[in-house]
Amino acid sequence: MGVITDVFGSNVFNEAVMKERLPKETYEALKKTISEGKELDITIANEVAEAMKDWAVEKGCTHYTHWFQPLNGITAEKHDSFLSIGKDGSVMEHFSGKALIKGEPDASSFPSGGIRATFEARGYTAWDPTSYAFIKDNTLCVPTAFCAYTGEALDKKTPLLRSIEALSVQGVRLLNILGEPVTRVTPSAGPEQEYFIIPKRMYEQRRDLVFTGRTLFGAKPPKGQELEDQYFANIRSEVKEFMSDLNRELWALGIYATTEHNEAAPCQHELAPIYTTTNMAIDHNHLIMENMKKIALRHNLVCLLHEKPFKGITGSGKHNNWSMSTNTGENLLKPGKEPFKNTRFLLILAAAIKAVDEYQDLLRISVASAGNDHRLGAHEAPPAIVSMFLGDDLTEILDAIVSGKEYMDPKKSTLNVGVDVLPDFVKDNTDRNRTSPFAFTGNKFEFRMVGSSQSISDPNIVLNTIFAEAMSQFSDALEGKEDIETAARELIKETVKKHARIIFNGNGYSPEWVKEAEERGLNNYRTAADAIPHLCDKKNVELFVRHRVYTEVELRSLSDVMLEEYVKITEIEVNTMLDMAKRQIIPACLAYTKELSELAAAKVTAGIDCEGLERELIVHISTTTKDMYKAVNTLEQLRSGISYAGNALSQATYIKENILPAMDAVRAPADALEGLVGKDYWPFPTYGDLLYY
Ligand code: ADP
Ligand code: MG
Repeated sequence: MGVITDVFGSNVFNEAVMKERLPKETYEALKKTISEGKELDITIANEVAEAMKDWAVEKGCTHYTHWFQPLNGITAEKHDSFLSIGKDGSVMEHFSGKALIKGEPDASSFPSGGIRATFEARGYTAWDPTSYAFIKDNTLCVPTAFCAYTGEALDKKTPLLRSIEALSVQGVRLLNILGEPVTRVTPSAGPEQEYFIIPKRMYEQRRDLVFTGRTLFGAKPPKGQELEDQYFANIRSEVKEFMSDLNRELWALGIYATTEHNEAAPCQHELAPIYTTTNMAIDHNHLIMENMKKIALRHNLVCLLHEKPFKGITGSGKHNNWSMSTNTGENLLKPGKEPFKNTRFLLILAAAIKAVDEYQDLLRISVASAGNDHRLGAHEAPPAIVSMFLGDDLTEILDAIVSGKEYMDPKKSTLNVGVDVLPDFVKDNTDRNRTSPFAFTGNKFEFRMVGSSQSISDPNIVLNTIFAEAMSQFSDALEGKEDIETAARELIKETVKKHARIIFNGNGYSPEWVKEAEERGLNNYRTAADAIPHLCDKKNVELFVRHRVYTEVELRSLSDVMLEEYVKITEIEVNTMLDMAKRQIIPACLAYTKELSELAAAKVTAGIDCEGLERELIVHISTTTKDMYKAVNTLEQLRSGISYAGNALSQATYIKENILPAMDAVRAPADALEGLVGKDYWPFPTYGDLLYY
């Protein structure tokens, strides 16, 4: 056996383990419950729990935890031991079916938006048997959903599971109308995770990195990305060691970690797993992020997952590759050899165009955060405007359908060597545009706006739901039609005509596009503070309620939590910035000025001129420090206005309008000073130190 096959899945209570350890009837009953989405019988739960515990204990576990995903977008766990005392006082290991199915953590310390105010603080976690239990740090982790006592979701998994169900119901309905007897449609995701790795000793000297995950100060280093010598370059040895450790850990957790390479920026890398169902992909992505941080520390490195750790250096995103497939194993986004003739594919494509156009706001909102604001629209990441890239071939096909003209199949292109390279649809024609936020890439859509530190739950909930809605409307239109093929073609034509504005195959980074998008009437919510308030727009509430993904209460609470998070993150950044400015940067500038002044005085005493050098430097540094000091005072005053601004939305708006510009005003003189003050005086590592170690 090779290394991969040897370790893969060894820490997962997966299909193979269940089959081996559960009595046949129990295994089958469990599978049936999972596939039908029914509640688990307690006798079966008891047997599963017992088998899980035995397996975990053999692997050295002493504890178990319900592992869940509260609204703050990270994961939470509360550990309990298997310890149990028998009637005779003997100690044994025990795990009951009841403890497997349901837990009752105190919900009051987790964000709940409006929900906690109106309901009891009690919450419960419920086992999600569609994602496997696994072992982490000698603890059996049971993936669970997290709800309020009254049933409202307090997490990101519950709405996700509901959206998966909605997509399946509507996908099956549409395909059945088209004459395909499928019984299940399942969405998949393959998230490409970008991250930075820097030395721990440098990280520890930067309070901004420690407290906020990004640098709040830092001048451009002498060398940036201009040579483009980093992308796909040789990976340095300590990072390579980190990666192989990481891979081993991820493989043991049954995660299909496969692609790894250097990214565009210095110290930036990417890890992509092979795609899987959205539910598992999300759980896995959380484990990937957690392990990246944990394992980097073992190598005296630190993993930065922030969307924009360094100003002026490309930030990190997470491309969410998404598709859906049937229980018969067909990918519904596969165009096949002759897409023009593939009505089902074109109908699904039309559904995508309709969904993305009608709910462009929701896609934007699903990736809205303080961190991602530094990345979107910054000429290196997709813009904040949602549009769709289809590539020339598909666009031509759609044009032909809309205009009613005949479609000429493009000749298969052949490489110079004379080999026929394209047995299937021309993937390359759809794979070239890297500036589009939502691109068709051969047999999937790639949603590129997601930030590197974000949970991919929100974008996938939105994708599943908006596709469900578009397909449901298509079903309504086609149901009962005698000639389905003709009706479907007509529907494709109408839909593409109506929603053509969302398709854009040009350069999404260009300033012209911003203007054109505005003319087309597309949304441009530049910041999270602009975007989040639209989550609860009437049409969005109706959508989620109709598909039973969120109740109105849940959606409002989510919007509150997102806004509160935006405010809290910015407050921490302001506090950190003021602290570093007042206690580190200004003192350093003063110390250096003092040194220069003493030197100047000594020179004058010795009768040596200090006009052109020391004096000039002193004046320059003093004036800039004074500018900085003034900006610091302004920021400090404005900070106290945040709490007076009112509710979360008013606070977010206040921050966007007043605080962020004031932070820029502190940074600008500070970064200029970095270039004026002697290196030995500067109080923390610079970009050059951090990125070119
Ligand atoms: P690129 O960098 O060109 O976008 P990568 O190979 O790095 O390509 O990443 C592509 C990602 O898309 C991988 O995680 C892959 O598993 C995933 N993917 C491929 N096919 C599908 C699909 N049908 N549905 C969802 N994700 C997919
Ligand atoms: Mg990609």
